[in-house]
Amino acid sequence: MNTERMKNLGTKRSVIRELFEYGNKRKNEIGAENVFDFSIGNPSIPAPKELSDELCRILSEENPLSVHSYTSAPGDFSARKAIAENLNERFKTSFVPENLYLTCGAAASLTISLSAVVNDGEEVIIFAPYFPEYTVFIETAGGKPVSVPCLWPDFQIDFDKLKESINEKTAAVIINSPNNPSGAVFSEECIAKLGKILSEAEEKFGRKIYLISDEPYRELVYDGTKVPFVTEYYKDTIVCYSYSKSLSLPGERIGYILVSPKNPDWKELYAGICGAGRALGFVCAPSLFQHMIPKCVNLTSDISLYEENRNLLYNALCEMGFESVKPKGAFYLFVKSPEPDANAFSEKAKKYEILVVPSDDFGMEGFVRISYCVSKEQIERSLPSFKKLAEEYFK
Ligand code: PLP
Repeated sequence: MNTERMKNLGTKRSVIRELFEYGNKRKNEIGAENVFDFSIGNPSIPAPKELSDELCRILSEENPLSVHSYTSAPGDFSARKAIAENLNERFKTSFVPENLYLTCGAAASLTISLSAVVNDGEEVIIFAPYFPEYTVFIETAGGKPVSVPCLWPDFQIDFDKLKESINEKTAAVIINSPNNPSGAVFSEECIAKLGKILSEAEEKFGRKIYLISDEPYRELVYDGTKVPFVTEYYKDTIVCYSYSKSLSLPGERIGYILVSPKNPDWKELYAGICGAGRALGFVCAPSLFQHMIPKCVNLTSDISLYEENRNLLYNALCEMGFESVKPKGAFYLFVKSPEPDANAFSEKAKKYEILVVPSDDFGMEGFVRISYCVSKEQIERSLPSFKKLAEEYFK
Protein backbone atom coordinates (compact mmCIF):
# COMPACT_ATOMS: atom_id res chain seq x y z
CA MET A 1 0.00 0.00 0.00
CA ASN A 2 1.14 3.52 -0.69
CA THR A 3 -0.25 6.36 1.38
CA GLU A 4 0.14 8.95 -1.40
CA ARG A 5 -1.71 6.71 -3.85
CA MET A 6 -4.53 6.21 -1.34
CA LYS A 7 -4.77 9.97 -0.77
CA ASN A 8 -4.98 10.52 -4.52
CA LEU A 9 -7.65 7.86 -4.90
CA GLY A 10 -9.60 9.43 -2.05
CA THR A 11 -9.45 12.96 -3.39
CA LYS A 12 -9.53 12.53 -7.17
CA ARG A 13 -13.11 12.07 -8.20
CA SER A 14 -14.01 9.88 -11.18
CA VAL A 15 -15.54 11.62 -14.19
CA ILE A 16 -18.75 9.69 -13.49
CA ARG A 17 -18.91 10.92 -9.88
CA GLU A 18 -18.11 14.47 -10.96
CA LEU A 19 -20.92 14.46 -13.51
CA PHE A 20 -23.31 12.91 -11.01
CA GLU A 21 -22.50 15.63 -8.46
CA TYR A 22 -22.74 18.34 -11.10
CA GLY A 23 -26.16 16.89 -11.96
CA ASN A 24 -27.30 17.10 -8.34
CA LYS A 25 -26.19 20.73 -8.20
CA ARG A 26 -28.11 21.54 -11.40
CA LYS A 27 -31.20 19.71 -10.10
CA ASN A 28 -31.18 21.99 -7.05
CA GLU A 29 -30.78 25.05 -9.25
CA ILE A 30 -33.29 24.37 -12.04
CA GLY A 31 -35.44 21.47 -10.80
CA ALA A 32 -34.84 17.74 -11.11
CA GLU A 33 -37.25 17.41 -14.04
CA ASN A 34 -35.09 19.73 -16.15
CA VAL A 35 -31.84 17.78 -15.80
CA PHE A 36 -31.31 14.65 -17.90
CA ASP A 37 -28.81 12.71 -15.87
CA PHE A 38 -27.57 9.61 -17.70
CA SER A 39 -24.30 9.45 -15.80
CA ILE A 40 -24.60 6.66 -13.28
CA GLY A 41 -25.48 2.96 -13.31
CA ASN A 42 -27.89 2.82 -10.40
CA PRO A 43 -30.75 0.39 -11.12
CA SER A 44 -34.04 2.22 -11.76
CA ILE A 45 -36.26 -0.82 -11.34
CA PRO A 46 -37.18 -1.83 -7.80
CA ALA A 47 -36.13 -5.15 -6.34
CA PRO A 48 -38.83 -7.83 -6.87
CA LYS A 49 -41.69 -7.76 -4.35
CA GLU A 50 -41.04 -11.41 -3.44
CA LEU A 51 -37.60 -10.32 -2.25
CA SER A 52 -38.94 -7.55 0.02
CA ASP A 53 -41.56 -10.02 1.32
CA GLU A 54 -38.83 -12.55 2.08
CA LEU A 55 -36.73 -9.94 3.90
CA CYS A 56 -39.78 -8.97 6.02
CA ARG A 57 -40.47 -12.63 6.76
CA ILE A 58 -36.85 -13.25 7.80
CA LEU A 59 -36.88 -10.19 10.06
CA SER A 60 -40.18 -11.04 11.68
CA GLU A 61 -39.98 -14.85 11.90
CA GLU A 62 -36.36 -15.89 12.19
CA ASN A 63 -34.13 -15.72 15.21
CA PRO A 64 -32.53 -12.24 15.14
CA LEU A 65 -29.37 -13.58 16.72
CA SER A 66 -28.88 -15.89 13.77
CA VAL A 67 -30.06 -13.38 11.13
CA HIS A 68 -27.55 -10.74 12.18
CA SER A 69 -24.67 -12.88 13.33
CA TYR A 70 -21.34 -13.47 11.61
CA THR A 71 -21.61 -16.32 9.14
CA SER A 72 -18.70 -18.55 8.20
CA ALA A 73 -16.21 -16.57 6.08
CA PRO A 74 -17.21 -18.23 2.75
CA GLY A 75 -20.87 -17.71 3.59
CA ASP A 76 -23.91 -19.55 4.85
CA PHE A 77 -23.95 -23.11 3.54
CA SER A 78 -27.64 -23.11 2.55
CA ALA A 79 -27.13 -19.94 0.46
CA ARG A 80 -24.13 -21.44 -1.33
CA LYS A 81 -26.03 -24.69 -1.88
CA ALA A 82 -28.99 -22.80 -3.38
CA ILE A 83 -26.69 -20.89 -5.75
CA ALA A 84 -24.83 -24.04 -6.85
CA GLU A 85 -28.12 -25.87 -7.53
CA ASN A 86 -29.56 -22.91 -9.40
CA LEU A 87 -26.47 -22.61 -11.64
CA ASN A 88 -26.40 -26.36 -12.25
CA GLU A 89 -30.03 -26.31 -13.34
CA ARG A 90 -29.58 -23.33 -15.65
CA PHE A 91 -26.18 -24.08 -17.15
CA LYS A 92 -25.90 -27.89 -16.86
CA THR A 93 -22.84 -27.45 -14.64
CA SER A 94 -21.88 -29.49 -11.58
CA PHE A 95 -20.92 -26.99 -8.92
CA VAL A 96 -20.97 -27.74 -5.20
CA PRO A 97 -21.36 -25.25 -2.34
CA GLU A 98 -17.62 -25.55 -1.67
CA ASN A 99 -16.94 -23.84 -5.04
CA LEU A 100 -18.68 -20.67 -3.82
CA TYR A 101 -17.53 -17.81 -1.63
CA LEU A 102 -20.10 -15.10 -0.83
CA THR A 103 -18.92 -11.51 -1.04
CA CYS A 104 -19.91 -7.87 -0.63
CA GLY A 105 -20.78 -7.52 -4.36
CA ALA A 106 -18.75 -7.70 -7.56
CA ALA A 107 -16.20 -5.09 -6.45
CA ALA A 108 -15.29 -7.27 -3.47
CA SER A 109 -15.35 -10.40 -5.64
CA LEU A 110 -12.84 -8.73 -7.96
CA THR A 111 -10.49 -7.37 -5.31
CA ILE A 112 -10.44 -10.72 -3.49
CA SER A 113 -9.89 -12.71 -6.69
CA LEU A 114 -7.13 -10.41 -7.89
CA SER A 115 -5.35 -10.52 -4.53
CA ALA A 116 -5.57 -14.31 -4.62
CA VAL A 117 -4.00 -14.77 -8.07
CA VAL A 118 -1.75 -11.77 -8.82
CA ASN A 119 1.82 -11.47 -7.53
CA ASP A 120 3.60 -8.12 -7.35
CA GLY A 121 4.56 -6.86 -10.80
CA GLU A 122 2.45 -9.37 -12.72
CA GLU A 123 0.10 -8.28 -15.48
CA VAL A 124 -3.67 -8.43 -15.79
CA ILE A 125 -5.26 -8.01 -19.21
CA ILE A 126 -8.47 -6.00 -19.47
CA PHE A 127 -10.53 -5.36 -22.59
CA ALA A 128 -11.32 -1.77 -23.54
CA PRO A 129 -13.80 -0.31 -23.09
CA TYR A 130 -13.66 -1.46 -19.46
CA PHE A 131 -15.12 -0.62 -16.03
CA PRO A 132 -12.67 2.07 -14.78
CA GLU A 133 -12.30 0.57 -11.31
CA TYR A 134 -10.45 -2.41 -12.80
CA THR A 135 -7.23 -0.41 -12.98
CA VAL A 136 -7.59 0.60 -9.32
CA PHE A 137 -8.32 -2.97 -8.18
CA ILE A 138 -5.46 -4.46 -10.21
CA GLU A 139 -2.91 -1.92 -8.99
CA THR A 140 -4.02 -2.41 -5.38
CA ALA A 141 -3.37 -6.14 -5.79
CA GLY A 142 0.17 -5.26 -6.92
CA GLY A 143 -0.53 -5.92 -10.60
CA LYS A 144 -0.22 -3.92 -13.79
CA PRO A 145 -3.27 -3.44 -16.02
CA VAL A 146 -2.69 -4.14 -19.72
CA SER A 147 -5.43 -2.89 -22.00
CA VAL A 148 -6.46 -4.76 -25.16
CA PRO A 149 -9.07 -3.12 -27.40
CA CYS A 150 -12.36 -4.59 -28.51
CA LEU A 151 -13.30 -4.12 -32.13
CA TRP A 152 -15.86 -1.62 -33.35
CA PRO A 153 -18.69 -2.12 -34.20
CA ASP A 154 -19.57 -5.30 -32.29
CA PHE A 155 -17.05 -4.93 -29.42
CA GLN A 156 -15.79 -8.50 -29.59
CA ILE A 157 -12.15 -9.21 -28.65
CA ASP A 158 -9.27 -8.16 -30.92
CA PHE A 159 -7.55 -11.56 -30.74
CA ASP A 160 -4.40 -10.48 -32.58
CA LYS A 161 -3.81 -7.75 -30.01
CA LEU A 162 -4.66 -10.18 -27.21
CA LYS A 163 -2.05 -12.69 -28.39
CA GLU A 164 0.56 -9.92 -28.58
CA SER A 165 -0.23 -8.89 -25.00
CA ILE A 166 0.06 -12.25 -23.24
CA ASN A 167 3.49 -13.06 -21.84
CA GLU A 168 5.19 -14.89 -18.98
CA LYS A 169 4.02 -12.16 -16.57
CA THR A 170 0.30 -12.51 -17.40
CA ALA A 171 -1.48 -13.67 -14.25
CA ALA A 172 -5.10 -13.03 -15.24
CA VAL A 173 -7.49 -11.73 -17.87
CA ILE A 174 -10.71 -9.96 -16.87
CA ILE A 175 -13.80 -10.09 -19.06
CA ASN A 176 -17.10 -8.34 -18.49
CA SER A 177 -20.01 -9.54 -20.60
CA PRO A 178 -22.67 -8.08 -20.79
CA ASN A 179 -20.41 -5.09 -20.79
CA ASN A 180 -20.31 -1.81 -18.97
CA PRO A 181 -20.04 0.55 -20.91
CA SER A 182 -20.63 -0.92 -24.40
CA GLY A 183 -23.65 -3.16 -23.72
CA ALA A 184 -21.95 -5.84 -25.84
CA VAL A 185 -22.19 -9.54 -25.04
CA PHE A 186 -19.30 -11.81 -26.03
CA SER A 187 -20.56 -14.52 -28.38
CA GLU A 188 -20.02 -18.21 -27.74
CA GLU A 189 -17.47 -18.22 -30.57
CA CYS A 190 -15.57 -15.36 -28.91
CA ILE A 191 -15.50 -17.05 -25.48
CA ALA A 192 -14.47 -20.40 -26.99
CA LYS A 193 -11.63 -18.74 -28.89
CA LEU A 194 -10.53 -16.86 -25.78
CA GLY A 195 -10.49 -20.14 -23.82
CA LYS A 196 -8.38 -21.80 -26.52
CA ILE A 197 -5.87 -18.93 -26.64
CA LEU A 198 -5.51 -18.90 -22.86
CA SER A 199 -5.06 -22.69 -22.70
CA GLU A 200 -2.31 -22.44 -25.32
CA ALA A 201 -0.69 -19.55 -23.45
CA GLU A 202 -0.72 -21.53 -20.17
CA GLU A 203 1.04 -24.32 -22.00
CA LYS A 204 3.53 -21.97 -23.67
CA PHE A 205 4.45 -20.00 -20.55
CA GLY A 206 4.14 -22.89 -18.10
CA ARG A 207 1.94 -20.99 -15.69
CA LYS A 208 -1.65 -20.43 -14.63
CA ILE A 209 -3.49 -17.61 -16.37
CA TYR A 210 -6.84 -17.06 -14.66
CA LEU A 211 -9.88 -15.86 -16.54
CA ILE A 212 -11.85 -13.62 -14.18
CA SER A 213 -15.38 -13.23 -15.50
CA ASP A 214 -17.01 -10.14 -13.98
CA GLU A 215 -20.74 -10.79 -14.37
CA PRO A 216 -22.96 -8.29 -12.54
CA TYR A 217 -25.09 -7.95 -15.69
CA ARG A 218 -25.43 -11.65 -16.53
CA GLU A 219 -29.24 -11.64 -16.39
CA LEU A 220 -29.67 -8.25 -18.08
CA VAL A 221 -29.88 -9.34 -21.72
CA TYR A 222 -32.34 -8.57 -24.48
CA ASP A 223 -33.74 -10.11 -27.68
CA GLY A 224 -33.09 -13.63 -26.37
CA THR A 225 -29.31 -13.08 -26.25
CA LYS A 226 -27.44 -15.96 -24.58
CA VAL A 227 -24.49 -15.30 -22.27
CA PRO A 228 -22.14 -18.31 -22.49
CA PHE A 229 -21.25 -19.69 -19.05
CA VAL A 230 -17.51 -19.19 -19.04
CA THR A 231 -16.45 -22.11 -16.81
CA GLU A 232 -17.57 -24.42 -19.64
CA TYR A 233 -14.98 -22.95 -22.03
CA TYR A 234 -11.88 -22.55 -19.86
CA LYS A 235 -10.93 -24.52 -16.78
CA ASP A 236 -9.06 -21.77 -14.92
CA THR A 237 -12.10 -19.54 -14.64
CA ILE A 238 -13.18 -17.49 -11.63
CA VAL A 239 -16.69 -16.02 -11.83
CA CYS A 240 -17.29 -12.75 -9.97
CA TYR A 241 -21.03 -12.27 -9.61
CA SER A 242 -23.19 -9.68 -7.91
CA TYR A 243 -26.89 -9.22 -7.15
CA SER A 244 -26.47 -5.43 -7.41
CA LYS A 245 -28.06 -5.17 -10.85
CA SER A 246 -30.07 -8.37 -11.33
CA LEU A 247 -31.99 -7.83 -8.07
CA SER A 248 -31.53 -4.02 -7.91
CA LEU A 249 -29.61 -4.22 -4.62
CA PRO A 250 -26.42 -2.21 -5.22
CA GLY A 251 -26.37 -0.66 -1.76
CA GLU A 252 -26.77 -3.97 0.05
CA ARG A 253 -23.41 -5.39 -1.13
CA ILE A 254 -24.06 -9.05 -1.91
CA GLY A 255 -22.51 -11.29 -4.54
CA TYR A 256 -20.19 -14.27 -4.86
CA ILE A 257 -17.02 -15.76 -6.26
CA LEU A 258 -17.30 -19.09 -8.05
CA VAL A 259 -14.18 -21.17 -8.53
CA SER A 260 -14.48 -23.70 -11.35
CA PRO A 261 -14.05 -27.32 -10.23
CA LYS A 262 -12.73 -28.06 -13.73
CA ASN A 263 -9.47 -26.52 -12.54
CA PRO A 264 -7.67 -29.51 -10.97
CA ASP A 265 -6.09 -27.13 -8.43
CA TRP A 266 -9.35 -25.44 -7.48
CA LYS A 267 -9.04 -26.27 -3.77
CA GLU A 268 -5.73 -24.45 -3.59
CA LEU A 269 -7.20 -21.49 -5.46
CA TYR A 270 -10.21 -21.50 -3.14
CA ALA A 271 -7.88 -21.42 -0.14
CA GLY A 272 -6.24 -18.35 -1.70
CA ILE A 273 -9.65 -16.72 -2.14
CA CYS A 274 -10.44 -17.37 1.54
CA GLY A 275 -7.04 -15.98 2.50
CA ALA A 276 -7.49 -12.86 0.40
CA GLY A 277 -10.99 -12.25 1.83
CA ARG A 278 -9.48 -12.51 5.29
CA ALA A 279 -6.48 -10.31 4.50
CA LEU A 280 -8.72 -7.64 3.03
CA GLY A 281 -10.89 -7.67 6.15
CA PHE A 282 -14.19 -8.68 4.59
CA VAL A 283 -15.05 -11.12 7.44
CA CYS A 284 -18.30 -12.26 5.75
CA ALA A 285 -20.93 -11.02 3.32
CA PRO A 286 -23.98 -9.22 4.82
CA SER A 287 -25.81 -11.86 6.79
CA LEU A 288 -29.41 -10.70 6.19
CA PHE A 289 -28.86 -10.80 2.43
CA GLN A 290 -27.22 -14.20 2.63
CA HIS A 291 -30.41 -15.38 4.34
CA MET A 292 -32.64 -14.19 1.49
CA ILE A 293 -30.69 -16.13 -1.17
CA PRO A 294 -32.28 -19.61 -0.88
CA LYS A 295 -35.78 -18.22 -1.55
CA CYS A 296 -34.74 -15.53 -4.06
CA VAL A 297 -32.05 -17.22 -6.11
CA ASN A 298 -34.44 -17.58 -9.06
CA LEU A 299 -35.65 -13.98 -9.09
CA THR A 300 -34.66 -11.09 -11.37
CA SER A 301 -35.96 -7.52 -11.40
CA ASP A 302 -38.35 -6.77 -14.27
CA ILE A 303 -35.75 -6.07 -16.97
CA SER A 304 -38.40 -5.55 -19.66
CA LEU A 305 -38.42 -1.93 -18.48
CA TYR A 306 -34.72 -1.54 -19.36
CA GLU A 307 -35.41 -3.12 -22.73
CA GLU A 308 -38.14 -0.54 -23.41
CA ASN A 309 -35.73 2.25 -22.46
CA ARG A 310 -33.03 0.79 -24.67
CA ASN A 311 -35.34 0.61 -27.69
CA LEU A 312 -36.73 4.09 -27.15
CA LEU A 313 -33.34 5.78 -26.73
CA TYR A 314 -31.45 3.78 -29.34
CA ASN A 315 -34.08 4.31 -32.05
CA ALA A 316 -34.47 8.01 -31.30
CA LEU A 317 -30.72 8.76 -31.23
CA CYS A 318 -30.09 6.82 -34.45
CA GLU A 319 -32.86 8.77 -36.15
CA MET A 320 -31.23 12.03 -35.05
CA GLY A 321 -27.94 10.96 -36.67
CA PHE A 322 -25.95 9.59 -33.71
CA GLU A 323 -24.00 6.39 -34.29
CA SER A 324 -24.22 3.53 -31.82
CA VAL A 325 -24.48 -0.23 -31.65
CA LYS A 326 -27.72 -1.61 -30.26
CA PRO A 327 -26.71 -3.00 -26.85
CA LYS A 328 -27.45 -6.69 -26.28
CA GLY A 329 -27.25 -6.39 -22.51
CA ALA A 330 -26.56 -4.32 -19.36
CA PHE A 331 -28.16 -0.85 -19.30
CA TYR A 332 -25.75 1.38 -21.18
CA LEU A 333 -25.72 2.82 -24.68
CA PHE A 334 -22.24 3.54 -26.04
CA VAL A 335 -22.55 6.32 -28.60
CA LYS A 336 -19.85 7.57 -30.97
CA SER A 337 -18.97 11.15 -30.19
CA PRO A 338 -19.79 13.26 -33.26
CA GLU A 339 -16.55 15.18 -32.66
CA PRO A 340 -13.17 13.53 -32.01
CA ASP A 341 -12.96 14.70 -28.38
CA ALA A 342 -15.69 12.98 -26.36
CA ASN A 343 -15.00 15.31 -23.43
CA ALA A 344 -15.88 18.31 -25.59
CA PHE A 345 -19.05 16.55 -26.72
CA SER A 346 -20.01 15.74 -23.12
CA GLU A 347 -19.43 19.41 -22.22
CA LYS A 348 -21.62 20.50 -25.13
CA ALA A 349 -24.37 18.13 -23.98
CA LYS A 350 -24.35 19.89 -20.61
CA LYS A 351 -25.60 23.04 -22.39
CA TYR A 352 -28.84 21.11 -22.94
CA GLU A 353 -28.74 19.70 -19.38
CA ILE A 354 -27.83 16.26 -20.72
CA LEU A 355 -25.22 14.38 -18.67
CA VAL A 356 -23.33 11.65 -20.52
CA VAL A 357 -19.95 10.16 -19.59
CA PRO A 358 -17.00 10.62 -21.98
CA SER A 359 -15.31 7.28 -22.68
CA ASP A 360 -11.66 8.11 -21.92
CA ASP A 361 -11.83 6.60 -18.42
CA PHE A 362 -13.19 3.39 -19.96
CA GLY A 363 -9.88 3.06 -21.81
CA MET A 364 -11.24 4.04 -25.23
CA GLU A 365 -11.53 7.50 -26.73
CA GLY A 366 -14.28 8.96 -28.88
CA PHE A 367 -17.50 7.67 -27.29
CA VAL A 368 -19.91 8.62 -24.54
CA ARG A 369 -21.76 6.26 -22.22
CA ILE A 370 -25.45 6.88 -21.68
CA SER A 371 -26.93 4.95 -18.73
CA TYR A 372 -30.53 4.20 -19.56
CA CYS A 373 -31.36 2.83 -16.12
CA VAL A 374 -33.58 5.87 -15.62
CA SER A 375 -37.34 6.38 -15.85
CA LYS A 376 -38.88 6.07 -19.30
CA GLU A 377 -40.32 9.50 -18.66
CA GLN A 378 -36.83 10.99 -18.28
CA ILE A 379 -35.86 9.57 -21.65
CA GLU A 380 -39.03 10.92 -23.28
CA ARG A 381 -38.49 14.36 -21.79
CA SER A 382 -34.82 14.40 -22.83
CA LEU A 383 -35.42 13.70 -26.52
CA PRO A 384 -36.08 17.34 -27.60
CA SER A 385 -32.80 18.31 -25.91
CA PHE A 386 -30.92 15.49 -27.63
CA LYS A 387 -32.47 16.74 -30.88
CA LYS A 388 -31.07 20.24 -30.30
CA LEU A 389 -27.68 18.74 -29.47
CA ALA A 390 -27.80 16.64 -32.66
CA GLU A 391 -28.58 19.75 -34.71
CA GLU A 392 -25.24 21.23 -33.65
CA TYR A 393 -23.56 18.40 -35.60
CA PHE A 394 -25.83 16.91 -38.23
CA LYS A 395 -27.52 19.86 -39.95
N1 PLP B 1 -18.16 -4.58 -12.51
C1 PLP B 1 -18.83 -3.83 -13.36
C2 PLP B 1 -18.60 -4.02 -14.82
C3 PLP B 1 -19.74 -2.87 -12.91
O1 PLP B 1 -20.41 -2.11 -13.79
C4 PLP B 1 -19.92 -2.71 -11.52
C5 PLP B 1 -20.83 -1.68 -10.99
O2 PLP B 1 -21.36 -0.86 -11.66
C6 PLP B 1 -19.18 -3.53 -10.66
C7 PLP B 1 -18.32 -4.45 -11.18
C8 PLP B 1 -19.32 -3.40 -9.18
O3 PLP B 1 -20.53 -4.00 -8.82
P1 PLP B 1 -20.99 -4.15 -7.29
O4 PLP B 1 -21.94 -3.07 -7.00
O5 PLP B 1 -21.65 -5.48 -7.22
O6 PLP B 1 -19.76 -4.11 -6.46
